[in-house]
Amino acid sequence: MAINHSHYLEIKQNIPLNVSLCIVTKHHSKEDILSYYDLGERIFAENRAQEFLKKKDLPNDIEWHFIGHLQKNKVRQIIPYVSCIQSLDSFVLAQLIDKECKRIHKILPVYAQFHLATEDTNKYGLSKEEAFSFFSNCEKLTNIEVCGMMVMGPHTANTKRIEEVFQEANTLFHSLRKDFPKLKVLSMGMSDDYKIAIQCGSTMIRIGSYLFEGDE
Ligand SMILES: *Cc1c(COP(=O)(O)O)cnc(C)c1O
Repeated sequence: MAINHSHYLEIKQNIPLNVSLCIVTKHHSKEDILSYYDLGERIFAENRAQEFLKKKDLPNDIEWHFIGHLQKNKVRQIIPYVSCIQSLDSFVLAQLIDKECKRIHKILPVYAQFHLATEDTNKYGLSKEEAFSFFSNCEKLTNIEVCGMMVMGPHTANTKRIEEVFQEANTLFHSLRKDFPKLKVLSMGMSDDYKIAIQCGSTMIRIGSYLFEGDE
C-alpha cells in the first residue's frame, strides 16, 4: 500500500479554505503517514486505541484525533497523546476523559458524536434529542472543551438520503452554536461522501481509503 498522490491533489484543490483535512490512517503504515507529513499534513486520525498507541512515536507536532468508539479502560492510555477525541458519545465518557485530563493537567478539545443516520444500527453517538442537555452538562467539566460535532453519513448509495442526514447535522450544528458558541467544527464527510458533506456545511472531512489505495 502507498499513498495516492493524485487523489490527494484532487482533494486539496477542491476543498474550500475553511474546511480542514483529517487523514484517517487506520491500517496504514508509519511510512505512509510520514509521506503525508512531508507534504505538510498534520491532522491524522485513528479509530482503535491499540493501533494508535503503536504510532504515537511519530513526530510530535502531529495532531492526533481519535475517531473510534472509546472504551473506558483505554482512556488513560490514549489521553496523553491525543489532540482531540471526536467520538465523545456519552456523558459518562465525558466525565471520565475530563477526570483523566485533570490528573495530567491537560485541556482537551473534544467533539460530540451524533448518530443521525438512524437506519444504520450498531452505531454509536448521541441523538438529536439529547444534544442540548449533553452540551449543557459538559459545560460544567473544566478540562474538556466540546468544540465540535462529528457525524457519519448513512451507509447507502442513495445520495439524497446522505444529503438529508448531512443537512440535518448542519441545522443541528447551527442551532447548538447559538447557545454554545465554543462549538466551531462540523466534522463530516469520508471518502465516498465528502463532496456532499462540504456542500452541506462540513468544516472538517475525514478521509482514509481514497488517500491510500490504487494510485495509477
Ligand atoms: C474509517 C473512518 C473514516 C474514513 O473512512 P474512509 O471511507 O476510508 O475515507 C472516517 N471516519 C471514521 C469515524 C472512520 O472510522
